[in-house]
Amino acid sequence: MQRWTLTKENYHSIEANQKFFSVSQFKSFIECEAKTMAELNGAYKEPHSNALLVGSYVHAAFESNEAFEQFIEENNRAIFKSRGGKYSDFETADRMIEALKRDPFAMFAMEGEKEEIYTAYLFGAYWKIKVDSIHHSRRTFSDLKTTQDLYKRYWSVKYDNWVSFVEAWDYVLQMALYRRVLQEATGSTYTPYIVAVTKENPPNKAVLHFDETRFNFEYEYIEMKMERLIEVKAGKVDPVRCEKCDYCRMTKQLNDTIEVGELIWQ
Ligand SMILES: [Zn+2]
Repeated sequence: MQRWTLTKENYHSIEANQKFFSVSQFKSFIECEAKTMAELNGAYKEPHSNALLVGSYVHAAFESNEAFEQFIEENNRAIFKSRGGKYSDFETADRMIEALKRDPFAMFAMEGEKEEIYTAYLFGAYWKIKVDSIHHSRRTFSDLKTTQDLYKRYWSVKYDNWVSFVEAWDYVLQMALYRRVLQEATGSTYTPYIVAVTKENPPNKAVLHFDETRFNFEYEYIEMKMERLIEVKAGKVDPVRCEKCDYCRMTKQLNDTIEVGELIWQ
């Protein structure tokens, strides 16, 4: 573990994902253990989604000019139509970038070092995180999130309640874990913020802070789930199939019937 160094180049590699847990891997395990194990074994690769690419485009715009130019060059054919002009998703993304760039408060919240990597041993495993923006003298960090609508409500099984997009996508869990990894790695407590911008035209935006009492629930949740996930990842127990995701649908072989009532509780 120690001789292998995590870098920007290998951060998203299968090898890095095998060695470290991350928030996205944790969420992926919660969604579907079988799919996540197939990805970790190199047997399955999630198809590239345009939504992910648009999100990366917006992130790159705030990382640095060089990062943004490089991203555009590497993804030229996904961004530009052959007859000229950008595809509409990227025109929306440009409006989102502009909306944040014109707002001094949002820009203030995103000040700091970009894309720094940290690791820590927590909940029985090594974790890796990559922070969008971290401001060491203010002891703050921020994560940029794009969403449909700031005020939309989602039903959450985890919280057993109506929640915002922040809880629905487990961004509270993400911020809690990042805060904990930073505590281990730096010895200081950093305060998290989310800079949110919407795909509406014109875009809405907000800088979100967290009531600190939210974090303990997330630490308990992670701890509760990790005991099993460490065993699954080590190959000690068989991964459970969700039977809903891309991977499960692609590899499904029917051998029994389902009672109608089971459908919505799967
Ligand atoms: Zn699945």
